[in-house]
Amino acid sequence: MSLVPPPVLLELPEPVAERRGVRLRLLRDDLRHPELPGNKWRKLKYNLLEAQRQGADTLLTFGGAYSNHLAAVAAAGRLQGFRTIGVVRGEATTTLSPTLQQCRANGMQLHFVSREEYRQRAEADYVAALLAELGPAYVVPEGGSNALALRGCAELVQELDAAGEAYDALAVACGTGGTLSGLLTGLDGRRAAVGVAALKGAEFLRADVDALTEQAVGKRYTNYHLHLNAHFGGYAKYSAELLVFIGAFYQRHHVVLDPVYTGKLLAGTLQVIEAGYFARGSTVVAIHTGGLQGWAGFQQRFGAAPPGPV
Ligand SMILES: *Cc1c(COP(=O)(O)O)cnc(C)c1O
Repeated sequence: MSLVPPPVLLELPEPVAERRGVRLRLLRDDLRHPELPGNKWRKLKYNLLEAQRQGADTLLTFGGAYSNHLAAVAAAGRLQGFRTIGVVRGEATTTLSPTLQQCRANGMQLHFVSREEYRQRAEADYVAALLAELGPAYVVPEGGSNALALRGCAELVQELDAAGEAYDALAVACGTGGTLSGLLTGLDGRRAAVGVAALKGAEFLRADVDALTEQAVGKRYTNYHLHLNAHFGGYAKYSAELLVFIGAFYQRHHVVLDPVYTGKLLAGTLQVIEAGYFARGSTVVAIHTGGLQGWAGFQQRFGAAPPGPV
């Protein structure tokens, strides 16, 4: 017996989509878990099981001062009884970001490293040195993207199938591309997926997605499209245009999008629909992956408030 709640899907009657004859829906995966919203929980699920299997009592991972991933690892550690260590990009500042304050409140030990040092985060020698200094730990890569993360994200496809939902394409925001990769392994060549990059100059995504699916299931997929032009100036950058879009989206649908990922996802998906990428009569499911904790950082850095309660 599985206790997985059924997926919550909302209709998004957007004029752009209606003109193109496309049914656009929003999967509220942000509501999936109260403290670990959206994709970060899916990406951690099998990593935590593996950490348990290995007998680890500590999780060590990497992120920036506003990272949704660090926030999720800290919360997961508290909920599941792991110590957590966050290796944070950039020197410690006198005021911690809201994200890092929350990480600390969840018991995470913060280890600040220079940007130069942080660049070595994926190098085996560097990680070994960190573990020698900070103690043994199960290491989760930056953003949580590895083969086990893909398995957790693939379950979203299985949940939609189990609920009998019919659709032609999934759309998701991409940072590392791990979530998109997991969806592709779940789809296993059926239907299609669109990834909307949150980073500027994200041409690297295709190679990374292909490497991740290859590593997880030994396959590369061709049933996906990357949309690289909805980054609104770059990763976690302030964009008045994007904030206006997020505000108007809230007025229309009463759903708060985040300014780093899901705002770009919806704006980008509408661009892809407008460009005629989907055939008339198709159904596209955009995935709200959460990330709303990021608003506190946006408020601190830019004075930009979310359009509604988060
Ligand atoms: C991390 C994150 C993403 C991107 O996930 P990747 O697997 O790194 O591509 C998308 N949306 C939200 C809200 C996130 O926090």
